[in-house]
This record gives sequence, C-alpha cells and structure tokens, in this order.
Amino acid sequence: MNNSKIWLSSPHMGGTEQKFVNEAFETNWVAPLGPNVNGFEDDLEKYLNQEAFVGALSSGTAAIHLGLILLDVKAGDEVICQSMTFSASANPIMYQGAMPVFVDSEKETWNMCPVALEEAIVDRISRGKKPKAIIAVHLYGMPFKAEKIRKIANEYQIPILEDSAEALGSSYKEQKCGTFGDIGILSFNGNKIITTSGGGAIVTKSKELKDKAVFLSTQARDNAPHYQHSEVGYNYRMSNICAGIGRGQMEVLDKHVALRREMHDFYSSIFSEIEGVTVFKEPNEDYYSNHWLSAILVDSSKTKNGKTREDLRLYLEALNIESRPLWKPMHLQPVFEHYPYYGSTISAQLFEDGLCLPSGSNLTDDDRDRLKVAFYQFF
Ligand SMILES: *Cc1c(COP(=O)(O)O)cnc(C)c1O
Repeated sequence: MNNSKIWLSSPHMGGTEQKFVNEAFETNWVAPLGPNVNGFEDDLEKYLNQEAFVGALSSGTAAIHLGLILLDVKAGDEVICQSMTFSASANPIMYQGAMPVFVDSEKETWNMCPVALEEAIVDRISRGKKPKAIIAVHLYGMPFKAEKIRKIANEYQIPILEDSAEALGSSYKEQKCGTFGDIGILSFNGNKIITTSGGGAIVTKSKELKDKAVFLSTQARDNAPHYQHSEVGYNYRMSNICAGIGRGQMEVLDKHVALRREMHDFYSSIFSEIEGVTVFKEPNEDYYSNHWLSAILVDSSKTKNGKTREDLRLYLEALNIESRPLWKPMHLQPVFEHYPYYGSTISAQLFEDGLCLPSGSNLTDDDRDRLKVAFYQFF
C-alpha cells in the first residue's frame, strides 16, 4: 500500500508561476522591485474588492511589524493581542519594545472574545494606560466576530491590526478578510493557502499609508541622489521573483479555497458518524471560511475507550500522516507567560482537545481513502 507522507498543508503550484518567474529572469528584474511586485499588488487589490491599498513585503511578520509602526506603537506602549494564535502575531509587539496584553478566545470562531476584549481595555485604562492597538486574528481561515470587535474598537477609539495571514479568500457578510482592520496583513508562507515561497503583504486604507509602508520597507530612503535617511528603515520588500510566484498563485486562489472547503466537507461527513469528535465549522451563513486548515475537537469523555486527541495524533503519525495540535495560546508560552491575560480557559481547553488535520488543496482521492480508513480504524 502507498505509504507516502500526507502533509498538513504543502505548497500547490497552479502552473503559470514559472512563466512569471521566467519573465523576471529574461528582463533581469531580479530585485526587490519590478513589474511582478506591482502586478501582484494590483491582483490582491482587485481580489480584496474594497478600498484596499496593498504593499507586498518579505513576510507576514514584517507586515505586522510595519503595521504596528504605522499605528504609532512605541516602546512602553501596550498592545492587545489574541492569545490563541501563531507567535508571529505577537513577536512584532516585542520588536517595538511594547508590551503584549493577551485576550482569550470565544467558542464559536475560536478567535478574540469580545467580552474579554472589553474587560481588558477597561482594566488597562483603569491602570493608567490605554492600549495602542488590537491584534485580532482569523484563525485557520475562520473570520473573527468582526462587527462586535469593531464596535468595541470604535467605542474606545483603538485601531485594529487584522492578522489575516491564514484567511485570504475568507469573508464575513461577503466582505473579504484582510479589509476589516485599520490595517490588515496577509502571509504567503509555504504552508498558507497560496504561497510565494515566503512573503506577506500589508493592506491599508489609503495610498499615503501604503506608500509609507513601502518607504519603510525599502530602508526609508529620502528623495535625494545620495543615500539620505531621516527615519529608521527596514529591508522588508518582496522580491520580484517571489511576486512572480504570487501572480501565478492568484490565478488558482479561488480553486484552492474550493478544494480546502471540500476537505472540510470530507471531514464533516466522516466525523458525523464518530462519537466525541466535532469538526470546527462556521457559526452561521455570515461566515465564509477558506478552511485553510480543517480542525477537530476530541472530547475524550465521549470517545470510545476515552481516546484523546494526542492518542489520535500519535496513531496518525505512525501511518505517516501529519496532524498538529491547535496553536498553543501565547499566555501559556514560556516567552510570554508573565504578561497580562484576560479571559478564562477557552483557548487553553481548545489547545487541549484540538487537532489540525491534513487540509491541502493538493490531496488526492488516494490520500482521502487512507485518511478515512485511519479514522474508522482508530475510533
Ligand atoms: C503565518 C502566520 C503569520 C506570519 O506570517 P509569515 O509570512 O510566516 O511571517 C502571522 N500570523 C499568523 C496567524 C500566521 O499563521
């Protein structure tokens, strides 16, 4: 029997990426600027279908860092951040010498809990400091509670930095993720829904802000014949080669979303018959997830023989099938555990019970057969 590795999420080329990369070579635009960079930004702006001004950068993390700078986050400031996320959401707070304040998730979307968010804001203000920004994340492609979070942000006049690294192609009430924040960010890392081998983008509401982000990402060079600098700059621009891959990937983005959503349906049908396992799904029709990763919760008090998510993970590993626990919340991470945290144990419990399953748009019928057999045998 075929026993090749089934990955959680691996790059999936559409076919035209090479053409754009070849063009870059033929025209010698092998640099962090060029026609592919502009073309990729145009493609993204059209796709987001909103007043969006996109700057292509070297990574999603770089985009979050520049986003915090554009929101004027400085040393000593406080920044609220969803606790349940990848560490790249929070690390740039530290780059700025600011302090993270972590907030729990709610059970429906697994994203920032509006109640805990407001509690955090009120308490931080009462201690004498108003948070400078709110970093909210669309985990695994699931849109966060955009209206509730926005209402609170407006009420206290705190800008939202929307981490949409996992949610390109998702939408809430037909508005694309990436456009809900005062500033949004995207990632094109190798495991994301589309990839440029490595890369990211910042999404702003004005051309001025986009230009400022691009200026900072190219060493903050003033307009002069020599190298003149009035501000600290960064080397965060996307290369024309990577952007060429991105242009090709944009042609297959919607297809990738459809295929990932089919993987979600595949798991929903398998686990509808298995006691103690629930598949992570949209709370209602307002939410449209790209289902970047399909995830399940394993309730060991209800499964046969008390089987846990870790039992399942090890079982799959032995079959050469990759799966992974959900993001471990930041307030439980050694590097961040001494920073303030608001909420209860929702994200901690999700981490205990949750498992991400192979979700790639390039999985085959053969892979799905192996997965199906594995789950039925295990449970
Ligand atoms: C991948 C990811 C990032 C970082 O993106 P990179 O392009 O890898 O730097 C940030 N936040 C979340 C939630 C991510 O999944």
